[in-house]
Amino acid sequence: MTGVRVECVKGNIAAQPDMDAVVNAANAQLLPGSGVAGAIHSAAGPGLAEECRALAPISPGEAVISSAHNLPNRHVIHCLGPVYGVDEPSDRLLAECYRNALLLADHNGLASVAFPAISTGVFGYPLADAATVAMKALADTLPSLGSVRLIRFVLFSDQDLSVFQEALESGLSGQ
Ligand code: ADP
Repeated sequence: MTGVRVECVKGNIAAQPDMDAVVNAANAQLLPGSGVAGAIHSAAGPGLAEECRALAPISPGEAVISSAHNLPNRHVIHCLGPVYGVDEPSDRLLAECYRNALLLADHNGLASVAFPAISTGVFGYPLADAATVAMKALADTLPSLGSVRLIRFVLFSDQDLSVFQEALESGLSGQ
């Protein structure tokens, strides 16, 4: 599988100290919010929102990179996932989040990236469908990666973890 390790764990995206970058399930203005964005901004401190002002707004599917401030990582990659059933085609826009985030990490020479389940909270994307899209996007992007060696999905519950784990096992088989 092109030498890239892909894993799923249960945990908090804002507490992944061994990863070069964590991905924020951001809003268009890159402001602190609820869920993932709330956890990332509160752990990073107010400097993150300040830096993000110059990078906003972003569109669905887009990814931008900032420093990590007080987070234990080198960078935060901010992705705007699609609002399910509103930003269409949702599956393509969600896949672009994963692809653009990975390519951005790679262009910055990063070795490890941790993702939350983008769009599956407030944005309403059904978890199993989102997991399938994520694994397909990874499979499509892995051959283009040079520096990235570890991709981690960080899920918030045991149930979410098993859905992503299952998608990983079927989605990347044969790679
Ligand atoms: P979106 O607006 O893209 O839907 P959310 O932050 O509302 O993003 O939720 C995305 C997913 O992340 C949901 O499955 C939610 O349960 C999960 N989540 C929320 N907080 C955290 C966290 N601190 N670490 C990891 N996952 C989280």
